[in-house]
Amino acid sequence: MNGSIDEPAGGAVVSRFAPSPTGALHLGHAFSAVRAHDLVRAGGGRFLLRIEDIDPGRVREAHVEGILADLAWLGLAWDGPVLRQSQRLPVYADALDRLRAMGLLYACFCTRAEIAASVAAPHGPVPLYPGTCRALPDDPARRAAVPHAWRIDMAAAAARAGPLAWHDAAAGAVAARPDLLGDVVLARKDAPASYHLAVTVDDAAQEVTDVVRGIDLFESTHAHRLLQALLGLPTPRYHHHPLIAGPDGRRLAKRDGAPALAALRAAGADPVALLADLRGRAIGFDRANA
Ligand code: GLU
Repeated sequence: MNGSIDEPAGGAVVSRFAPSPTGALHLGHAFSAVRAHDLVRAGGGRFLLRIEDIDPGRVREAHVEGILADLAWLGLAWDGPVLRQSQRLPVYADALDRLRAMGLLYACFCTRAEIAASVAAPHGPVPLYPGTCRALPDDPARRAAVPHAWRIDMAAAAARAGPLAWHDAAAGAVAARPDLLGDVVLARKDAPASYHLAVTVDDAAQEVTDVVRGIDLFESTHAHRLLQALLGLPTPRYHHHPLIAGPDGRRLAKRDGAPALAALRAAGADPVALLADLRGRAIGFDRANA
């Protein structure tokens, strides 16, 4: 592995927990938070909290308050101020402008239904965008009148950046495959930045050296690595962890009915025992990966 992948600049390690306040934190979130916290705390590094609140339809202020209360209950203290993505929209707009100036973005007017209808053979859980709007000439009048997203021309962007790699603690050196994601959205119809753009810009802005998150976001990292290359941002190390499962073997996530931390707190659960249990699960995963 070359140095630019293995050794982010600077001395101290920095990790972050970056929840979206679209619901209550559950045990899966707590697992991710404690892993991010413990990874850097042992070595005197910094653990940051970022609230990813740029999805106007789904974000609720009450969930932000709930996240802060849950982390305090668990005893996971973060360093410095909480970063809120909703306050950083000009920074994302600037990154978009730079990518647009490279000729790598195009406006997409498609509706979800149109995309679903035009995808003959769905590729994985989310169909790849078929590129319907990619070849349209830019039409500022239409853009002024019709809601649109901005997508990246992934093939052109990957060709411009050349071969890229990133490092995952469990998987080792990973060749970036942004083509697996297709022309992802970087600015949404209803939000001025997408997850992919905001997370990449913010991990660099907060000088995060180690990104700890669930393995369900492993593939997203291919797009983040490409955006880092295009925008001249450093590449952190990645630690994609398995998603924890309940006693029945099913993954613990909100949609699967995982208990919210707030409910456990209200029921009188012991946060120290809960953290010990989550840390024990982490050790189990690490042994399985060793
Ligand atoms: N906000 C994302 C989520 O809650 C996590 C982003 C990340 O860790 O990269 O799923």
